[in-house]
Amino acid sequence: MNICVVTLFPELVGAVGISGIPRVAIEQGALALSCVSPREFATNRHRTVDDRPFGGGPGMLMIAETLSLAIASARAAVPDAHVVLMSPQGARLNRAKVQALAAMPGLILVCGRYEGIDQRIVDALIDEQVSIGDYVLSGGELGAMVVIDAIARRLPGVLGDAQSVVQDSFETDLLDHPHYTRPERWQGADVPLVLRSGNHRAIDEWRLQQRLSGTARARPDLFYEHGLDDRARALLTAEWQHAAETIEKLGRLSDE
Ligand code: SAM
Repeated sequence: MNICVVTLFPELVGAVGISGIPRVAIEQGALALSCVSPREFATNRHRTVDDRPFGGGPGMLMIAETLSLAIASARAAVPDAHVVLMSPQGARLNRAKVQALAAMPGLILVCGRYEGIDQRIVDALIDEQVSIGDYVLSGGELGAMVVIDAIARRLPGVLGDAQSVVQDSFETDLLDHPHYTRPERWQGADVPLVLRSGNHRAIDEWRLQQRLSGTARARPDLFYEHGLDDRARALLTAEWQHAAETIEKLGRLSDE
């Protein structure tokens, strides 16, 4: 996967590739990461990349010309790239979106700054907008780094054990179950007996139960989005009541 990031802060984005899983992905050749700055294409003495918005209002905007030249340069580096603008106005990033982006032949991630970018760039050069949450950051770089990290761990062969991804939260529309490692007793708290039993069927059952009850407690909306099979219903106990109430409430809201 070839990713080129259009950013005024290449040193910030580059940091995502110097440690952890993205670094492993780069070292293995599964991920190529590069950056292009609009400032490289600024021609005036002050290398200006921003200007005041038409119609007035606070702040500055990234100007179309230098940004378009930077995107063209990124395109030359990644010719078949899907072009994503990091933006709070985009669809919220989730597991399915990360999976879809990871399957692209290449990506250009465009990072806005200031009050954002000239709309004509969005209209002409952006394939889709992606948000990393319902809050406003001062720039798209942290969002691009989130996307790069989330993609890197999905690239074939990057994680030592491919099962790690399969078991992660959201992969089965459920959150992950609790994990424990040695010692068996720490500060008076024991690892659940079932995990030390060696009974793999019982362990699987316990883990599914934990995934269901944890999801029901923390994210009952996931059940509403993806449904719940009979086995899952049977395993759920008290938390099911809470999930059922939320499902009913969401159902009522969407009917209105
Ligand atoms: N005026 C814009 C608005 O209210 O939608 C916010 C601009 S923000 C200060 C500057 C840049 O940060 C945006 O152009 C975008 O690239 C990035 N950004 C801010 N919040 C983001 C989010 N939640 N997800 C992805 N990118 C974000």
